[in-house]
Amino acid sequence: MTKELGWNLDNSYARLPKAFFTDQHPHPVQSPKLVIFNDALAASLGLNGEALKSEDGVEVFAGNRIPEGASPLAQAYAGHQFGYFNMLGDGRAVLLGEQMTPSGDRFDIQLKGPGRTPYSRGGDGRAALGPMLREYIISEAMHGLGIPTTRSLAVVTTGESVIRETALPGAILTRVAASHLRVGTFQYAANWGTTEDLQTLADYTLKRHFPDVEADENRYLSLLQEVVKRQARLISQWQLVGFIHGVMNTDNMTISGETIDYGPCAFMDVYDPATVFSSIDREGRYAYGNQPPIGGWNLARFAESLLSLLHDDQDQAVELAQEAISEFPKLYQHHWLSGMRTKLGLFTEEAEDQSLVEDLLGMMQKHRADYTNTFRALTFDKLEGMELFGTPEFSQWHERWQARLGRQDEPKASSSQLMRDSNPAVIPRNHRVEEALEAANNGDYSVMERLIDVLSRPFAHVPEQDDYCTLPALSNRPYRTFCGT
Ligand code: AMP
Ligand code: MG
Repeated sequence: MTKELGWNLDNSYARLPKAFFTDQHPHPVQSPKLVIFNDALAASLGLNGEALKSEDGVEVFAGNRIPEGASPLAQAYAGHQFGYFNMLGDGRAVLLGEQMTPSGDRFDIQLKGPGRTPYSRGGDGRAALGPMLREYIISEAMHGLGIPTTRSLAVVTTGESVIRETALPGAILTRVAASHLRVGTFQYAANWGTTEDLQTLADYTLKRHFPDVEADENRYLSLLQEVVKRQARLISQWQLVGFIHGVMNTDNMTISGETIDYGPCAFMDVYDPATVFSSIDREGRYAYGNQPPIGGWNLARFAESLLSLLHDDQDQAVELAQEAISEFPKLYQHHWLSGMRTKLGLFTEEAEDQSLVEDLLGMMQKHRADYTNTFRALTFDKLEGMELFGTPEFSQWHERWQARLGRQDEPKASSSQLMRDSNPAVIPRNHRVEEALEAANNGDYSVMERLIDVLSRPFAHVPEQDDYCTLPALSNRPYRTFCGT
Protein backbone atom coordinates (compact mmCIF):
# COMPACT_ATOMS: atom_id res chain seq x y z
CA MET A 1 0.00 0.00 0.00
CA THR A 2 2.75 2.40 0.98
CA LYS A 3 4.43 1.81 -2.38
CA GLU A 4 1.21 2.46 -4.30
CA LEU A 5 0.81 5.75 -2.50
CA GLY A 6 4.34 6.71 -3.46
CA TRP A 7 5.75 7.11 0.04
CA ASN A 8 9.51 6.62 0.07
CA LEU A 9 10.41 7.66 3.58
CA ASP A 10 13.61 7.77 5.55
CA ASN A 11 14.22 9.68 8.77
CA SER A 12 17.81 10.83 9.01
CA TYR A 13 16.90 13.21 11.82
CA ALA A 14 15.93 10.18 13.94
CA ARG A 15 19.57 9.05 13.74
CA LEU A 16 20.76 12.17 15.59
CA PRO A 17 21.47 11.85 19.33
CA LYS A 18 18.35 11.19 21.40
CA ALA A 19 18.52 14.64 22.96
CA PHE A 20 17.23 16.18 19.72
CA PHE A 21 13.80 14.54 19.68
CA THR A 22 11.27 12.29 21.30
CA ASP A 23 9.64 9.40 19.45
CA GLN A 24 6.03 10.39 19.14
CA HIS A 25 3.11 8.92 17.24
CA PRO A 26 0.33 11.24 16.17
CA HIS A 27 -2.85 10.77 18.22
CA PRO A 28 -5.56 9.26 15.98
CA VAL A 29 -8.61 11.35 15.13
CA GLN A 30 -12.28 10.42 14.77
CA SER A 31 -13.34 11.03 11.20
CA PRO A 32 -10.78 12.63 8.94
CA LYS A 33 -11.86 14.32 5.76
CA LEU A 34 -9.51 15.72 3.14
CA VAL A 35 -10.46 19.30 2.37
CA ILE A 36 -7.57 20.43 0.21
CA PHE A 37 -4.75 18.63 -1.52
CA ASN A 38 -1.78 19.90 -3.53
CA ASP A 39 -1.61 17.73 -6.65
CA ALA A 40 1.38 19.50 -8.21
CA LEU A 41 3.44 19.27 -5.03
CA ALA A 42 2.49 15.61 -4.55
CA ALA A 43 3.67 14.82 -8.07
CA SER A 44 6.99 16.59 -7.57
CA LEU A 45 7.55 14.53 -4.41
CA GLY A 46 6.93 11.30 -6.31
CA LEU A 47 3.64 10.71 -4.51
CA ASN A 48 0.56 9.21 -6.09
CA GLY A 49 -1.99 12.00 -5.71
CA GLU A 50 -5.03 9.99 -6.74
CA ALA A 51 -4.27 7.14 -4.32
CA LEU A 52 -3.50 9.57 -1.51
CA LYS A 53 -6.91 11.15 -1.88
CA SER A 54 -8.60 7.79 -1.22
CA GLU A 55 -9.86 6.93 2.27
CA ASP A 56 -6.71 4.91 2.97
CA GLY A 57 -4.40 7.64 1.74
CA VAL A 58 -6.06 10.28 3.87
CA GLU A 59 -5.48 8.23 7.03
CA VAL A 60 -1.81 9.19 6.81
CA PHE A 61 -2.57 12.94 6.70
CA ALA A 62 -4.80 12.46 9.73
CA GLY A 63 -2.10 10.69 11.72
CA ASN A 64 -4.26 7.57 11.91
CA ARG A 65 -1.83 5.44 9.93
CA ILE A 66 1.94 5.57 9.76
CA PRO A 67 3.38 4.89 6.33
CA GLU A 68 6.20 2.37 6.00
CA GLY A 69 9.64 3.87 6.54
CA ALA A 70 8.36 6.66 8.78
CA SER A 71 9.72 7.08 12.29
CA PRO A 72 7.45 9.72 13.77
CA LEU A 73 9.02 12.09 16.26
CA ALA A 74 8.68 15.49 17.85
CA GLN A 75 11.74 17.73 17.58
CA ALA A 76 13.35 19.52 20.50
CA TYR A 77 14.35 23.14 20.05
CA ALA A 78 14.65 26.40 21.91
CA GLY A 79 14.14 29.96 20.84
CA HIS A 80 14.05 33.65 21.63
CA GLN A 81 10.38 34.57 21.60
CA PHE A 82 10.04 38.36 21.39
CA GLY A 83 13.57 38.53 22.76
CA TYR A 84 13.10 36.09 25.65
CA PHE A 85 14.83 32.74 25.61
CA ASN A 86 12.69 29.62 26.14
CA MET A 87 12.87 25.87 25.79
CA LEU A 88 10.27 24.96 23.15
CA GLY A 89 10.01 21.96 20.79
CA ASP A 90 7.28 20.58 18.56
CA GLY A 91 4.28 21.06 20.81
CA ARG A 92 1.79 20.54 18.04
CA ALA A 93 3.73 18.86 15.28
CA VAL A 94 5.10 15.43 14.45
CA LEU A 95 7.73 14.74 11.82
CA LEU A 96 6.75 11.56 9.98
CA GLY A 97 9.98 11.31 8.07
CA GLU A 98 11.75 12.53 4.97
CA GLN A 99 10.35 11.81 1.54
CA MET A 100 13.09 10.83 -0.90
CA THR A 101 11.95 12.23 -4.22
CA PRO A 102 12.54 10.76 -7.68
CA SER A 103 14.99 13.60 -8.36
CA GLY A 104 17.04 12.63 -5.32
CA ASP A 105 15.94 15.38 -2.93
CA ARG A 106 14.93 14.90 0.67
CA PHE A 107 11.93 16.73 2.17
CA ASP A 108 10.52 16.65 5.68
CA ILE A 109 6.91 15.54 5.90
CA GLN A 110 5.42 16.97 9.05
CA LEU A 111 1.92 16.86 10.49
CA LYS A 112 0.89 20.06 12.20
CA GLY A 113 -1.89 19.56 14.76
CA PRO A 114 -1.56 15.81 15.54
CA GLY A 115 -2.05 16.06 19.33
CA ARG A 116 0.07 16.44 22.42
CA THR A 117 3.82 15.80 22.62
CA PRO A 118 6.24 16.07 25.57
CA TYR A 119 6.92 19.64 24.40
CA SER A 120 3.27 20.75 24.45
CA ARG A 121 3.43 22.33 27.91
CA GLY A 122 -0.14 23.53 28.52
CA GLY A 123 -1.28 23.20 24.90
CA ASP A 124 -3.49 20.56 23.35
CA GLY A 125 -1.21 19.86 20.38
CA ARG A 126 -4.12 20.42 18.06
CA ALA A 127 -4.84 23.00 15.39
CA ALA A 128 -7.99 24.69 14.14
CA LEU A 129 -9.10 24.62 10.53
CA GLY A 130 -8.86 28.39 9.84
CA PRO A 131 -5.17 28.81 10.72
CA MET A 132 -4.17 25.63 8.86
CA LEU A 133 -5.92 26.79 5.69
CA ARG A 134 -4.36 30.21 6.15
CA GLU A 135 -0.90 28.62 6.24
CA TYR A 136 -1.79 26.59 3.16
CA ILE A 137 -2.90 29.67 1.20
CA ILE A 138 -0.04 31.95 2.16
CA SER A 139 2.77 29.42 1.91
CA GLU A 140 1.59 28.43 -1.56
CA ALA A 141 1.31 32.11 -2.51
CA MET A 142 4.90 32.62 -1.38
CA HIS A 143 5.96 29.69 -3.54
CA GLY A 144 4.13 31.26 -6.47
CA LEU A 145 6.06 34.47 -5.84
CA GLY A 146 9.32 32.53 -6.09
CA ILE A 147 10.22 32.93 -2.42
CA PRO A 148 11.79 29.97 -0.60
CA THR A 149 9.18 28.52 1.73
CA THR A 150 7.86 25.42 3.38
CA ARG A 151 4.96 24.04 1.33
CA SER A 152 1.53 22.68 2.09
CA LEU A 153 0.56 19.25 0.83
CA ALA A 154 -2.83 18.66 2.43
CA VAL A 155 -5.29 19.74 5.06
CA VAL A 156 -7.71 17.30 6.68
CA THR A 157 -10.45 18.12 9.11
CA THR A 158 -10.43 15.76 12.07
CA GLY A 159 -14.14 15.56 12.87
CA GLU A 160 -13.22 16.78 16.35
CA SER A 161 -13.45 20.24 17.89
CA VAL A 162 -10.60 22.19 19.34
CA ILE A 163 -11.36 24.57 22.13
CA ARG A 164 -9.94 28.05 21.76
CA GLU A 165 -12.05 31.06 22.73
CA THR A 166 -14.87 29.02 21.27
CA ALA A 167 -15.08 25.48 19.88
CA LEU A 168 -13.58 25.37 16.37
CA PRO A 169 -13.31 22.60 13.78
CA GLY A 170 -10.03 20.73 14.24
CA ALA A 171 -7.63 20.16 11.35
CA ILE A 172 -4.18 18.85 10.48
CA LEU A 173 -1.86 20.38 7.92
CA THR A 174 0.79 18.30 6.17
CA ARG A 175 3.80 20.56 5.81
CA VAL A 176 6.70 19.89 3.46
CA ALA A 177 10.06 21.48 4.21
CA ALA A 178 13.68 21.24 3.12
CA SER A 179 14.11 20.55 6.84
CA HIS A 180 12.78 21.83 10.13
CA LEU A 181 16.23 22.76 11.42
CA ARG A 182 15.94 26.18 13.02
CA VAL A 183 18.23 28.72 14.64
CA GLY A 184 16.44 27.49 17.76
CA THR A 185 17.63 23.91 17.15
CA PHE A 186 21.22 25.14 17.48
CA GLN A 187 20.36 27.26 20.51
CA TYR A 188 18.89 24.15 22.09
CA ALA A 189 22.04 22.13 21.36
CA ALA A 190 24.33 24.88 22.63
CA ASN A 191 22.38 25.30 25.87
CA TRP A 192 21.26 21.79 26.74
CA GLY A 193 23.38 19.46 24.67
CA THR A 194 27.02 18.41 24.89
CA THR A 195 29.68 19.91 22.60
CA GLU A 196 29.53 16.61 20.77
CA ASP A 197 25.76 16.97 20.24
CA LEU A 198 26.28 20.45 18.83
CA GLN A 199 29.00 19.27 16.51
CA THR A 200 26.89 16.32 15.34
CA LEU A 201 24.02 18.71 14.59
CA ALA A 202 26.30 21.08 12.69
CA ASP A 203 27.79 18.24 10.64
CA TYR A 204 24.33 16.87 9.91
CA THR A 205 23.21 20.33 8.75
CA LEU A 206 26.26 20.77 6.53
CA LYS A 207 25.65 17.43 4.87
CA ARG A 208 21.96 18.08 4.39
CA HIS A 209 21.96 21.71 3.28
CA PHE A 210 25.47 22.88 2.48
CA PRO A 211 27.44 19.96 0.99
CA ASP A 212 29.52 22.42 -1.05
CA VAL A 213 31.27 23.78 2.03
CA GLU A 214 31.42 20.57 4.05
CA ALA A 215 35.10 20.12 3.26
CA ASP A 216 36.08 23.74 4.06
CA GLU A 217 38.93 24.30 6.48
CA ASN A 218 36.63 25.90 9.04
CA ARG A 219 33.35 24.28 8.02
CA TYR A 220 31.41 25.69 10.97
CA LEU A 221 32.34 29.21 9.98
CA SER A 222 31.23 28.34 6.44
CA LEU A 223 27.93 27.10 7.86
CA LEU A 224 27.39 30.43 9.58
CA GLN A 225 28.32 32.36 6.45
CA GLU A 226 25.99 30.30 4.27
CA VAL A 227 23.03 30.78 6.61
CA VAL A 228 23.74 34.52 6.69
CA LYS A 229 23.67 34.54 2.88
CA ARG A 230 20.42 32.63 2.62
CA GLN A 231 18.63 34.72 5.21
CA ALA A 232 19.85 37.99 3.67
CA ARG A 233 18.37 36.90 0.39
CA LEU A 234 15.17 35.56 1.92
CA ILE A 235 14.39 38.65 3.97
CA SER A 236 15.12 40.91 0.99
CA GLN A 237 12.53 38.91 -0.96
CA TRP A 238 9.99 39.42 1.83
CA GLN A 239 10.60 43.15 1.78
CA LEU A 240 10.30 43.35 -1.99
CA VAL A 241 6.78 41.89 -1.97
CA GLY A 242 5.62 43.49 1.30
CA PHE A 243 5.43 40.27 3.30
CA ILE A 244 5.33 40.65 7.07
CA HIS A 245 6.15 37.43 8.90
CA GLY A 246 4.78 38.67 12.20
CA VAL A 247 6.65 36.39 14.59
CA MET A 248 10.34 36.26 13.69
CA ASN A 249 11.34 34.42 16.84
CA THR A 250 14.57 32.47 16.49
CA ASP A 251 12.62 29.20 16.53
CA ASN A 252 10.78 30.42 13.44
CA MET A 253 13.95 31.07 11.42
CA THR A 254 15.11 28.13 9.35
CA ILE A 255 18.68 27.13 8.59
CA SER A 256 17.68 26.13 5.05
CA GLY A 257 16.60 29.68 4.24
CA GLU A 258 12.93 28.83 3.78
CA THR A 259 10.14 30.93 5.20
CA ILE A 260 8.45 28.95 7.99
CA ASP A 261 5.56 29.22 10.43
CA TYR A 262 2.74 31.11 8.88
CA GLY A 263 0.98 32.30 12.00
CA PRO A 264 0.16 35.98 12.14
CA CYS A 265 1.83 36.86 8.84
CA ALA A 266 0.14 39.12 6.29
CA PHE A 267 0.95 41.30 3.30
CA MET A 268 1.19 45.06 3.59
CA ASP A 269 -1.32 47.13 1.62
CA VAL A 270 -0.39 50.79 2.14
CA TYR A 271 3.37 51.29 2.19
CA ASP A 272 4.41 52.02 5.75
CA PRO A 273 7.51 50.55 7.41
CA ALA A 274 5.70 50.61 10.78
CA THR A 275 3.04 48.16 9.60
CA VAL A 276 2.24 45.43 12.14
CA PHE A 277 -0.69 43.03 11.87
CA SER A 278 -0.08 40.62 14.73
CA SER A 279 -2.26 41.16 17.77
CA ILE A 280 0.52 40.02 20.09
CA ASP A 281 3.24 42.28 18.62
CA ARG A 282 2.27 45.29 20.70
CA GLU A 283 5.61 47.07 20.43
CA GLY A 284 6.10 46.47 16.73
CA ARG A 285 9.23 44.38 17.22
CA TYR A 286 8.38 42.51 14.02
CA ALA A 287 7.04 45.46 12.00
CA TYR A 288 7.74 45.44 8.25
CA GLY A 289 10.64 47.88 8.52
CA ASN A 290 12.22 45.97 11.42
CA GLN A 291 12.44 42.62 9.63
CA PRO A 292 15.97 43.14 8.25
CA PRO A 293 17.54 44.21 11.58
CA ILE A 294 15.67 41.44 13.40
CA GLY A 295 17.08 39.00 10.85
CA GLY A 296 20.53 40.21 11.83
CA TRP A 297 19.70 39.90 15.53
CA ASN A 298 18.51 36.31 15.07
CA LEU A 299 21.66 35.43 13.13
CA ALA A 300 23.75 36.81 15.97
CA ARG A 301 21.97 34.31 18.24
CA PHE A 302 22.82 31.58 15.71
CA ALA A 303 26.47 32.68 15.71
CA GLU A 304 26.55 32.60 19.52
CA SER A 305 25.30 29.04 19.51
CA LEU A 306 28.18 28.06 17.21
CA LEU A 307 30.96 29.81 19.16
CA SER A 308 32.43 26.67 20.71
CA LEU A 309 32.86 25.19 17.22
CA LEU A 310 34.27 28.24 15.47
CA HIS A 311 37.63 28.35 17.25
CA ASP A 312 39.31 26.84 20.31
CA ASP A 313 40.19 30.35 21.43
CA GLN A 314 36.88 31.96 22.37
CA ASP A 315 38.08 35.52 21.68
CA GLN A 316 38.98 34.50 18.19
CA ALA A 317 35.69 32.64 17.85
CA VAL A 318 33.82 35.83 18.76
CA GLU A 319 35.83 37.78 16.22
CA LEU A 320 35.03 35.28 13.46
CA ALA A 321 31.37 35.30 14.39
CA GLN A 322 31.17 39.08 14.40
CA GLU A 323 32.83 39.31 11.04
CA ALA A 324 30.37 36.82 9.55
CA ILE A 325 27.37 38.57 11.07
CA SER A 326 28.53 41.98 9.87
CA GLU A 327 28.09 40.72 6.31
CA PHE A 328 24.35 40.39 6.79
CA PRO A 329 23.32 44.06 6.41
CA LYS A 330 25.57 44.45 3.37
CA LEU A 331 24.25 41.33 1.66
CA TYR A 332 20.70 42.23 2.53
CA GLN A 333 21.13 45.73 1.13
CA HIS A 334 22.67 44.36 -2.04
CA HIS A 335 19.78 41.94 -2.67
CA TRP A 336 17.17 44.51 -1.78
CA LEU A 337 18.58 47.17 -4.08
CA SER A 338 19.04 44.67 -6.92
CA GLY A 339 15.43 43.61 -6.47
CA MET A 340 14.22 47.19 -6.40
CA ARG A 341 16.13 47.89 -9.61
CA THR A 342 14.27 45.06 -11.33
CA LYS A 343 10.96 46.40 -9.98
CA LEU A 344 11.78 49.67 -11.73
CA GLY A 345 12.97 48.04 -14.95
CA LEU A 346 16.65 48.81 -14.41
CA PHE A 347 19.32 46.49 -15.78
CA THR A 348 22.33 48.62 -14.95
CA GLU A 349 23.64 50.16 -11.74
CA GLU A 350 24.02 53.85 -10.99
CA ALA A 351 25.01 55.47 -7.72
CA GLU A 352 21.75 57.43 -7.58
CA ASP A 353 19.54 54.35 -7.79
CA GLN A 354 19.15 54.01 -4.06
CA SER A 355 17.81 57.53 -3.67
CA LEU A 356 15.54 57.01 -6.68
CA VAL A 357 13.97 54.06 -4.86
CA GLU A 358 13.88 55.72 -1.47
CA ASP A 359 12.26 58.85 -2.83
CA LEU A 360 9.52 56.78 -4.40
CA LEU A 361 8.93 54.86 -1.16
CA GLY A 362 8.88 58.11 0.81
CA MET A 363 6.14 59.50 -1.44
CA MET A 364 4.20 56.24 -1.25
CA GLN A 365 4.25 56.43 2.51
CA LYS A 366 3.24 60.09 2.57
CA HIS A 367 0.34 59.59 0.17
CA ARG A 368 -0.67 56.23 1.64
CA ALA A 369 -0.17 54.42 -1.65
CA ASP A 370 -0.79 50.69 -1.94
CA TYR A 371 2.61 48.99 -2.23
CA THR A 372 1.75 46.26 -4.77
CA ASN A 373 -0.54 48.39 -6.88
CA THR A 374 1.93 51.27 -7.14
CA PHE A 375 4.52 49.04 -8.77
CA ARG A 376 1.84 47.41 -10.90
CA ALA A 377 0.71 50.84 -12.11
CA LEU A 378 4.30 51.79 -12.95
CA THR A 379 4.73 48.51 -14.82
CA PHE A 380 1.75 49.17 -17.07
CA ASP A 381 2.12 52.93 -17.11
CA LYS A 382 -1.42 53.26 -15.80
CA LEU A 383 -0.87 56.15 -13.46
CA GLU A 384 -4.39 56.79 -12.29
CA GLY A 385 -6.70 56.21 -9.37
CA MET A 386 -4.16 57.04 -6.67
CA GLU A 387 -3.56 60.34 -4.90
CA LEU A 388 0.19 59.83 -5.33
CA PHE A 389 0.10 59.98 -9.11
CA GLY A 390 -1.56 63.42 -9.17
CA THR A 391 1.16 65.14 -7.14
CA PRO A 392 3.88 67.40 -8.62
CA GLU A 393 6.56 65.57 -6.64
CA PHE A 394 5.57 62.31 -8.28
CA SER A 395 5.70 63.94 -11.75
CA GLN A 396 9.23 65.10 -11.02
CA TRP A 397 10.21 61.68 -9.77
CA HIS A 398 8.67 60.09 -12.87
CA GLU A 399 10.80 62.29 -15.12
CA ARG A 400 13.91 61.31 -13.19
CA TRP A 401 13.01 57.65 -13.54
CA GLN A 402 12.31 57.96 -17.28
CA ALA A 403 15.65 59.71 -17.76
CA ARG A 404 17.33 56.93 -15.81
CA LEU A 405 15.67 54.28 -18.00
CA GLY A 406 16.86 56.19 -21.03
CA ARG A 407 20.49 55.93 -19.91
CA GLN A 408 20.59 52.16 -20.41
CA ASP A 409 20.99 50.36 -23.71
CA GLU A 410 18.19 47.86 -23.19
CA PRO A 411 15.06 48.75 -25.14
CA LYS A 412 11.92 49.91 -23.38
CA ALA A 413 10.22 46.58 -24.09
CA SER A 414 12.90 44.71 -22.13
CA SER A 415 12.46 47.01 -19.13
CA SER A 416 8.77 46.52 -19.34
CA GLN A 417 9.16 42.74 -19.36
CA LEU A 418 11.57 42.90 -16.43
CA MET A 419 8.99 44.86 -14.47
CA ARG A 420 6.23 42.41 -15.33
CA ASP A 421 8.42 39.58 -14.06
CA SER A 422 9.33 41.44 -10.87
CA ASN A 423 6.07 43.08 -9.80
CA PRO A 424 3.29 40.67 -8.85
CA ALA A 425 -0.25 41.51 -9.93
CA VAL A 426 -1.67 39.57 -7.02
CA ILE A 427 -0.69 38.96 -3.43
CA PRO A 428 -2.83 37.25 -0.79
CA ARG A 429 -4.75 40.36 0.19
CA ASN A 430 -6.06 40.16 3.71
CA HIS A 431 -9.73 40.62 2.83
CA ARG A 432 -9.47 37.93 0.14
CA VAL A 433 -7.87 35.47 2.55
CA GLU A 434 -10.55 36.19 5.16
CA GLU A 435 -13.31 35.75 2.60
CA ALA A 436 -11.89 32.38 1.53
CA LEU A 437 -11.55 31.20 5.13
CA GLU A 438 -15.07 32.25 6.01
CA ALA A 439 -16.51 30.34 3.06
CA ALA A 440 -14.39 27.29 3.98
CA ASN A 441 -15.60 27.42 7.58
CA ASN A 442 -19.10 27.21 6.15
CA GLY A 443 -18.17 24.18 4.07
CA ASP A 444 -17.56 25.96 0.74
CA TYR A 445 -13.96 25.46 -0.38
CA SER A 446 -14.42 26.84 -3.89
CA VAL A 447 -13.55 30.42 -2.94
CA MET A 448 -10.25 29.27 -1.48
CA GLU A 449 -9.45 27.00 -4.43
CA ARG A 450 -9.95 29.86 -6.84
CA LEU A 451 -7.80 32.16 -4.70
CA ILE A 452 -4.99 29.60 -4.51
CA ASP A 453 -5.15 29.14 -8.26
CA VAL A 454 -4.86 32.88 -8.93
CA LEU A 455 -2.02 33.21 -6.42
CA SER A 456 -0.05 30.46 -8.12
CA ARG A 457 0.67 32.73 -11.11
CA PRO A 458 1.24 36.20 -9.67
CA PHE A 459 3.31 37.41 -12.62
CA ALA A 460 0.87 36.33 -15.33
CA HIS A 461 -0.76 39.78 -15.57
CA VAL A 462 -3.98 38.48 -17.10
CA PRO A 463 -7.47 40.01 -16.85
CA GLU A 464 -8.77 37.24 -14.54
CA GLN A 465 -6.51 38.66 -11.85
CA ASP A 466 -8.12 42.09 -11.87
CA ASP A 467 -10.70 41.22 -9.21
CA TYR A 468 -7.91 40.20 -6.87
CA CYS A 469 -6.02 43.47 -7.18
CA THR A 470 -8.66 45.71 -5.70
CA LEU A 471 -8.33 47.00 -2.19
CA PRO A 472 -10.77 46.26 0.60
CA ALA A 473 -13.48 48.78 1.38
CA LEU A 474 -12.20 51.28 3.91
CA SER A 475 -12.66 50.04 7.42
CA ASN A 476 -12.11 51.83 10.69
CA ARG A 477 -10.80 48.65 12.24
CA PRO A 478 -7.16 47.81 11.50
CA TYR A 479 -6.55 44.28 10.21
CA ARG A 480 -5.42 42.00 13.03
CA THR A 481 -3.86 38.57 12.82
CA PHE A 482 -3.49 35.88 15.46
CA CYS A 483 -1.01 33.11 16.13
CA GLY A 484 -3.71 30.53 15.57
CA THR A 485 -2.60 28.12 18.25
P1 AMP B 1 4.54 28.86 16.98
O1 AMP B 1 3.81 30.09 17.42
O2 AMP B 1 3.72 28.01 16.08
O3 AMP B 1 5.90 29.12 16.45
O4 AMP B 1 4.70 27.99 18.29
C1 AMP B 1 5.56 28.29 19.36
C2 AMP B 1 5.64 27.08 20.29
O5 AMP B 1 4.37 26.80 20.88
C3 AMP B 1 6.06 25.82 19.58
O6 AMP B 1 6.88 25.09 20.45
C4 AMP B 1 4.76 25.12 19.33
O7 AMP B 1 4.90 23.73 19.18
C5 AMP B 1 3.98 25.46 20.59
N1 AMP B 1 2.53 25.40 20.36
C6 AMP B 1 1.81 26.19 19.57
N2 AMP B 1 0.51 25.83 19.59
C7 AMP B 1 0.40 24.76 20.40
C8 AMP B 1 -0.68 23.92 20.81
N3 AMP B 1 -1.94 24.09 20.41
N4 AMP B 1 -0.38 22.92 21.67
C9 AMP B 1 0.87 22.73 22.11
N5 AMP B 1 1.92 23.47 21.76
C10 AMP B 1 1.70 24.49 20.90
MG1 MG C 1 7.12 28.06 15.47
